[in-house]
Amino acid sequence: MSLYRDFLEWQEKLRALLEEGEQLARRAEGLEQENALLRQEREATVVDEPTGGFEALSQLYDEGYHICPMSFGRMREEDCLFCLNFLRNKGKKE
Ligand SMILES: [Zn+2]
Repeated sequence: MSLYRDFLEWQEKLRALLEEGEQLARRAEGLEQENALLRQEREATVVDEPTGGFEALSQLYDEGYHICPMSFGRMREEDCLFCLNFLRNKGKKE
């Protein structure tokens, strides 16, 4: 009788362990999907940024707007050292 109770207890523990294992597997799967999604997003931004972003910024500067962080988007009366510096640094990275 006691052996049977032990067996039931053991079976219950085993079921709990299996459930926990399933939950862990599901969580790992979710993380893997999230990771893949983040990787895709990062690749998309990395591909987008270097050419398109830089060209758009230097074009904006040529049209007479600030592209430096402190005055971004404002009309530019004369050459801005911050903008030029920003463009130079951006250009160097490519
Ligand atoms: Zn500026």
